[in-house]
Amino acid sequence: MAHSACLSLGSNLGDREANLRSALHSLSRLGKVMVSSFYETEPVEIENQPWFLNCAACVEFYGEAGSTPEKLLVEILEIERRMGRRRMQNKGPRPIDIDILLFGQEMVDTPVLTVPHPAMGQRGFVLVPLAEIAPDTMHPGLNKTVREMLQELPLGPVVRRF
Ligand code: ADP
Ligand code: MG
Repeated sequence: MAHSACLSLGSNLGDREANLRSALHSLSRLGKVMVSSFYETEPVEIENQPWFLNCAACVEFYGEAGSTPEKLLVEILEIERRMGRRRMQNKGPRPIDIDILLFGQEMVDTPVLTVPHPAMGQRGFVLVPLAEIAPDTMHPGLNKTVREMLQELPLGPVVRRF
């Protein structure tokens, strides 16, 4: 069976739309990509920074690159590095951030990788785009669908269609 994963992409530095499109183009070499609409979102945690452009993408991998969550993380970090991501201020402005939300029904918890992404259930900027393309996908830890997780999310920071 082909491996598949759902990712969250975000940018709040430079040409945000071009940055998302460039990252999506890189991901399209790894597999068949389904992309949500783009959303403008209010920053969480560090609030005095530019608004983000976010989207979700689900990838059905063609080959080895997406055969394990760890290999996918290597690919993602390489895409971020090529796009000029420098890790300075944690949670601060970035040209691109790519997070692994779900990897099939696998659960991983190591010092470098936690899947499902631990914060996805609290984040409108993750769940709103994801629910557009994968509403019936199960979260293996919570045994809830993405749609149910979004329905249970309290109103929070702004997430609006771009
Ligand atoms: P954040 O996304 O929390 O703002 P970074 O993008 O700087 O932080 O990621 C830092 C590290 O988080 C990555 O190098 C990676 O090792 C780790 N990490 C842990 N879980 C995940 C995940 N599910 N998706 C992406 N990175 C993850
Ligand atoms: Mg990240």
